[in-house]
Amino acid sequence: MKSSSPPRKKLSKDFISESQSDETDAAYLTWMISYPSALNSFHVIRTYAKCKSVVLFLDYDGTLSPIVDNPDTAFMSTAMQAAVKKAAKCFPTAIISGRSRDKVYEFVRLSELYYAGSHGMDIAGPLRESESVGDHPDCIRTTDEQGKEVHLFQPASEFVPMINEVYKSLLDITKNITGVKVENNKFCVSIHYRNVDEKMWEEVGKHVFGLLKDFSRLRVTHGRKVLEVRPVIDWNKGKAVEFLLESLGLSHRDDVLPIYIGDDRTDEDAFKVLRECNRGFGILVSTVPKETNAFYSLRDPSEVQEFLKSLKPRATDGSPGSARRCKDSRPANASFEEQGERPYRDPRPALWSHCDRHQSEICYLDMNSGAENSIAFKFCQSEDKNSAEAMISKGRKTGKQCSC
Ligand SMILES: [Mg+2]
Repeated sequence: MKSSSPPRKKLSKDFISESQSDETDAAYLTWMISYPSALNSFHVIRTYAKCKSVVLFLDYDGTLSPIVDNPDTAFMSTAMQAAVKKAAKCFPTAIISGRSRDKVYEFVRLSELYYAGSHGMDIAGPLRESESVGDHPDCIRTTDEQGKEVHLFQPASEFVPMINEVYKSLLDITKNITGVKVENNKFCVSIHYRNVDEKMWEEVGKHVFGLLKDFSRLRVTHGRKVLEVRPVIDWNKGKAVEFLLESLGLSHRDDVLPIYIGDDRTDEDAFKVLRECNRGFGILVSTVPKETNAFYSLRDPSEVQEFLKSLKPRATDGSPGSARRCKDSRPANASFEEQGERPYRDPRPALWSHCDRHQSEICYLDMNSGAENSIAFKFCQSEDKNSAEAMISKGRKTGKQCSC
């Protein structure tokens, strides 16, 4: 017995580590009150998505693939690829990554998706009759590497020679720092320091920021153990989302629900766009509490996979309720369908409003019964709006108004 018992030192160590783990879990659970799990809130998301066209935007590293020591081997699993492929059959789906567009395609290898590399500075989007897309000075109609006709949008094309120069310089000045990986992403350069001894991290930063003093038109951003050198242009993943929605002809429709899933600081630009436009939402992939503009959270790529697998095209159930809800909407090519019951109740206001020519419907969760209910009202007639709000305030949740 004695020989099989752990020594006192180990017990003490285990106890401390267990306590720390409990504290971490508690902090995460507290954070989840503000950013609930997209899996546990799936019934809410499903309700929100009713009668809407879902559009999926996915980051790659840390979202579809695990973060690995060697960024060249950040492959996603076959199961994840199948989940993405299935989702892309139901909804327009785009990958928006900091990697080069070619590189991220090599990892994903699904021709049915749209790809935006270099943080959205290299977009191969759908052909679109919209003049605002086709007539953009940095947009050309071409055939991509997979033989698909696309609108290629590269707003930072003039920076390519400068980026190449910086890439070569960074390779040279960091060559003696063990573990540094410099990656040329065509319109930006990534300096991965995940495998660098922590004592040398500052040294890496000094080299990068030192070099950039000579390039006033470039800036450095900070991701997950990676520094990224990018052109100073008014373009980011949020702008890429707006561009792709415009390319898809979905920009000015009320019945569109963009969902963006990502794990990185650069994804915050996309979360922010969706939050500020009050259309769709971001899902932050994180195992630790973080400040974010996302609405929901998922812990890791395995949960992302489960979420993607849960998405289904809208089933026409023919029920009077669903017919009424969708009757006045513009065609919605896809929606959610819940798979199984989720025992968790979303603790935050989980309301949505659907507006079609001022005919709005507020949907809410009754916190007592957990049932989904709805109130139809004329948004623009204040008395109806007030009565709807009064009903909701009786122990239920407050509604969110449409912005028309
Ligand atoms: Mg990422």
